Amino acid sequence: MVNNITTRRRFIQASGGMVAASLAATASSAAPLAQARGGARAMGQPLPETVKLPSTPPRRKRPDSLGFAIVGLGGYALNQMMPRFDQAERAHIAAIVSGNPDKLRRVGDAYGVPEDARYSYDAFARIASDDRIDAVYIVLPTGLHAEWAIRAFAAGKHVLCEKPMALSSADCERMIAASRRANRKLMLAYRSHFEPYNLEAMRLMEQKAVGAIRLVRTEQSYRMGPTSPSENWRTNRVLAGGGPLEDYGIYGLQSALYLTGEMPESISAATFRPTGDPRFSEIFAHVASQLRFPSGAVAQLVTSYDSAATNFAHVRGTDGALIMDPATSYSGQKMRLEARNPREFTPGDPNVQFARQLDHFTNAVRDGEAIRTSGEMGLRDLRLIEAIYAAAETGRTINLTPDGKIRR
Ligand code: NDP
Repeated sequence: MVNNITTRRRFIQASGGMVAASLAATASSAAPLAQARGGARAMGQPLPETVKLPSTPPRRKRPDSLGFAIVGLGGYALNQMMPRFDQAERAHIAAIVSGNPDKLRRVGDAYGVPEDARYSYDAFARIASDDRIDAVYIVLPTGLHAEWAIRAFAAGKHVLCEKPMALSSADCERMIAASRRANRKLMLAYRSHFEPYNLEAMRLMEQKAVGAIRLVRTEQSYRMGPTSPSENWRTNRVLAGGGPLEDYGIYGLQSALYLTGEMPESISAATFRPTGDPRFSEIFAHVASQLRFPSGAVAQLVTSYDSAATNFAHVRGTDGALIMDPATSYSGQKMRLEARNPREFTPGDPNVQFARQLDHFTNAVRDGEAIRTSGEMGLRDLRLIEAIYAAAETGRTINLTPDGKIRR
């Protein structure tokens, strides 16, 4: 991996620094997939001291529960998702996949995962003959999603994939094709589609609670501590693409689409990357974009790894405004309507989003329920991200087809 990163960095320097055109061009070629191949760290990452493991293994609640293999035992898997399986009705952890043998042992023991269901990345293909595993949940760095989703489909398993789906629309298309070939389901882990505040906001916007929408503003930002591409995959272009937009700003992009219920017809954008800061030697520090919708509504999206933390969505319409702040957190959401009849909303506990997402995937696999957050939705979002980078690189407004492709 270090060699891959070094090679990649040399390429970036040789190509005159971080420009969106090279990002878009390389992202849509097979290069990142090839470089990421075998890129899952053989030695893995040690178990962070702060991770709390369950004192008693969670129990499986129903016989028709879906058995998941968790691939990548990192911060999000260990701190958020794995503990939430206990709250799901029809999902359980059947296997774990990691590059770190100590973590496999300690996490496996805590979650009651049988020893022969603890896989290294090298042994991953053997899951094909493991009937305890119905689905693979990919919680790896983004640049590895496509590779491991395709491997999971080749093993005959369904795939739940963390956001963003991949780093290019071409990789998303490969993942969708692999899912169809294998006749297995593919779902994106866009948790806000299962979170009560965001669901209520979608309903309010459908009911025209602010009248006709004129403006959506979203921001997802935080200040990243000192780091570099070899220390932190989020700053490594092969694994993270352009950086904050794919990782965090994607929530604002998603909100703009599901709150307006529209696809943008054009995009303009600007990126910023300070020189001499190792955090941003390969990725952008800020990305700002403006989307124009067929109704005339405009969305202004900002995301940053280098400004004070915030996470909000505001919708302003002819009859009022909806304020969500924080908008898409794990918990603590707040939402109010500023209109003739102002209101605060408390539609439910945001904590349910994780387990509901898991149960929804089981319902899709077991009962054929339509997937709310499909591979096609992930592909759509990557097309829009590519259009944002193309707009920033060219300094031009990019026109889009209704399915988000750049209109040539
Ligand atoms: P972490 O860095 O905490 O964990 C990633 C894990 O992937 C590592 O612990 C390691 O697991 C494994 N891995 C394999 N190869 C590599 C490699 N080359 N470099 C680094 N790690 C590697 O990341 P997160 O858990 O924060 O993010 C993982 C995914 O989850 C991303 O796609 C991210 O976008 C998504 N995410 C989603 C969130 C949401 O709210 N839906 C929130 C946070 C993240 P091991 O040691 O077991 O091999």
